[in-house]
Amino acid sequence: MEFPRKQKLTVLGASGSIGASTLDVVLQHPERFEVVALSGHARVDELSRLCLIHRPRYAVVADAGDAKRLAADFTAAGLATEVLAGPAALEEVAALDEVDTVMAAIVGAAGLAPTLAAVRAGKRVLLANKEVLVMAGALFMAEVQRSGAQLLPIDSEHNAVFQSLPADYSGSFVAKGVRRILLTASGGPFLDTPLAQLAGVTPLQACAHPNWVMGRKISVDSATMMNKGLEVIEAHWLFNAPAERIEVVIHPQSVIHSLVEYVDGSVLAQLGNPDMRTPIAHALAYPERIAAGVAPLDLFAIGQLNFSRPDLLRFPCLPLAYQALSAGGSAPTLLNAANEIAVAAFLDGRLPYLRIADTIVAILAEIPAVAVPDLAAVKAIDEQARSAAKAVVARWQK
Ligand code: NAD
Ligand code: MG
Repeated sequence: MEFPRKQKLTVLGASGSIGASTLDVVLQHPERFEVVALSGHARVDELSRLCLIHRPRYAVVADAGDAKRLAADFTAAGLATEVLAGPAALEEVAALDEVDTVMAAIVGAAGLAPTLAAVRAGKRVLLANKEVLVMAGALFMAEVQRSGAQLLPIDSEHNAVFQSLPADYSGSFVAKGVRRILLTASGGPFLDTPLAQLAGVTPLQACAHPNWVMGRKISVDSATMMNKGLEVIEAHWLFNAPAERIEVVIHPQSVIHSLVEYVDGSVLAQLGNPDMRTPIAHALAYPERIAAGVAPLDLFAIGQLNFSRPDLLRFPCLPLAYQALSAGGSAPTLLNAANEIAVAAFLDGRLPYLRIADTIVAILAEIPAVAVPDLAAVKAIDEQARSAAKAVVARWQK
């Protein structure tokens, strides 16, 4: 099939797990998509490999020295890709006139500024980077409203909710007869680990997710279930959903990606194999459907689906996220910053696993939640929480 004009893409976080899945789908549809810019931060070799395949106009790395070396390699290889460096370049490639769609797949708070730049430029924004909605949800959604950007969720749960809501859903549960959103959670690698063993678990064990292959930060978040907590906050902002109408259901098979319950008792869900190429292909082609390279769901092989309530003693990060959401203002910004610092320390082998939740408790207790009128306030609170969390982590260092 011929398309009048290819969809032009910037992929922020191209060198990561979501980046890889995105570019895999793109490669399956060369007639539809053209890659204009790719960012790779410190993973320069992976970015270089991707540039040789996709031949973008721009590549962005973190470090100016890396940019120089990469540019020399590209010249030698006869590749015209221009190599840029630093956070300002990320914002630049997110807002380029020629770009239609931006995949926001940087991990953590570092994704906020470039994702906002894409929103402000009115792009179609495919949002994987949930931390931006957790740290600055109200301001982010206000920018989406103001600019008319189209925001499509990539997180598998939110993509499933989006698909299960009416096509003309515009933020009112009441108007559309929606009663609840049910977010499914696999329970991660420690769902059945005896509680007494959790104190000693290693980063390698925490990153060994039973169903999904993901970056290291989100893998640890999945082990602690902070990932589901962040997703509750993400769902609140994306769908204007009251916290008490978002319920988390443990579903170890990760086949039902989430559900929407209506007042008449109907429950709509989206199912599929746990492969991020499905939500990515959905959002890339929306409202059309394209192949994602994902095997058809084999219900006969799966046999049964199970559900249970999350054990809040095992997963204290989940109630912490609800607590931050109901406190409002800067509380989710504090939660996110403390979690990022604690998870990084755990991954470095500097913090015991159970201290991740303790760090967040300490920061939420130490720094009072205040209103966040603008982005400068978000940034200041984020920085304050990060340095306070580093001090807490240093006290508990292994
Ligand atoms: P990843 O660690 O595999 O990739 C992260 C990307 O961000 C890489 O390209 C990395 O180079 C870049 N990056 C890291 N630090 C940066 C910084 N300071 N500045 C600029 N770029 C930086 O992570 P991932 O698993 O691909 O996750 C990306 C985002 O998508 C996260 O917010 C995660 O929560 C979300 N997400 C991921 C999955 C998944 O299946 N992997 C599913 C749902 C949501
Ligand atoms: Mg998810």
